[in-house]
Amino acid sequence: MITSKLPNVGTTIFTTMSQLAAETGAINLSQGFPDFDGPDELREALARAVMAGHNQYAPMAGLPALREQVALKIQSLYQRQVSADSEVTITPGATQAIFCAIHAVIRTGDEVIVFDPCYDSYEPAVELAGGVCIHQPLSQPNFSIDWQKLADAITPRTRMIVLNTPHNPSGALIDRADLERLAALIRDRDIYLLSDEVYEHLVFDGHEHVSVLRHEELYQRAFVISSFGKTYHVTGWKTGYVVAPPALTAELRKVHQYVSFTGVTPLQWALAEFMEAHPEHVRELPGFYQAKRDLFCDLLSGSRFGVSRAAGTYFQLADYSAIRPDLDDVAMAQWLTREHGVASIPISVFYQSPPADLRLVRFCFAKREETLRQAAARLCAI
Ligand code: PMP
Ligand code: GLN
Repeated sequence: MITSKLPNVGTTIFTTMSQLAAETGAINLSQGFPDFDGPDELREALARAVMAGHNQYAPMAGLPALREQVALKIQSLYQRQVSADSEVTITPGATQAIFCAIHAVIRTGDEVIVFDPCYDSYEPAVELAGGVCIHQPLSQPNFSIDWQKLADAITPRTRMIVLNTPHNPSGALIDRADLERLAALIRDRDIYLLSDEVYEHLVFDGHEHVSVLRHEELYQRAFVISSFGKTYHVTGWKTGYVVAPPALTAELRKVHQYVSFTGVTPLQWALAEFMEAHPEHVRELPGFYQAKRDLFCDLLSGSRFGVSRAAGTYFQLADYSAIRPDLDDVAMAQWLTREHGVASIPISVFYQSPPADLRLVRFCFAKREETLRQAAARLCAI
């Protein structure tokens, strides 16, 4: 028998719940992806790129035109000048970016602090690098960082802290004061930062996205990661990027070079062309998704679910303690899918030790209006 290197890893909750939704014919608000397509012009640009013969390897770090567009966007949104050559790397998905950033710096015995509930891909990457995740629960009910607990969790072995803002699954955001606290905490220590900002453009109610790219001191030790999949409604394109100072980028590329070598060429041409032609797309995204969040939450106000509007991401948590307090969230997500035809994600799976009284499921509202209306009608009938 093989001894698994990842004995605790099974099938992800996203695969499990999407499969259950397909089997039962439920409306799938579980795994995070839109049920509508990306812009026509973007998809046409991909067809053109393929037919124009952009089908061989792109440069290892990514197509220069796309790296340039990323640098321009960062300048425009976060007022930071980054070098497209030495600070931006295109990867086949943010997931691969996360894996490479962790492997670039984590060694045997290193500790990586993650905040629970925590996205599922961080820990396996840390374990494969020989490190260990130290799970720090976010405070309830706002999913904010407990700074004293974080300070207490830092040891001489701490090598990385993983931030995720806007936060999946809670939708919580960090603010500028949080960045200052973080900077003060790690100032004299040899600690890197992985900032997972894949939902950077999905921030609502007039709030700004507090990117680590806005903070000079923190940026100097950070890998900032994003995903074109979320931003352009094409999660299946699996294309993302990492922004990091030149020395960290050089180490990251050593790993990326041998994990995939490069990203998919014609996708990069299409994204570069679309970003250049439509810089307004990212500025319009908050309004686009806020309207979906508001529609979904307004509809749910006629249900017995308790909802506190997500500040960011395309996920909405819903408290079901008035409906089935007897069920834990895994059982609740199954029951909702099988009995009421709406699939969701139980959030306890993102915890090392979930709070015993957790009664929250996550719905994805990156869906067409009719999908949200149908799902809400089913949820209101419970
Ligand atoms: N980080 C977070 C927080 C995510 O929610 C996701 C995907 N849904 C990713 C990373 C991975 O992004 P990608 O699909 O580009 O690999
Ligand atoms: N990030 C997506 C979510 O949170 C899922 C991506 C995946 O299935 N790996 O739903």
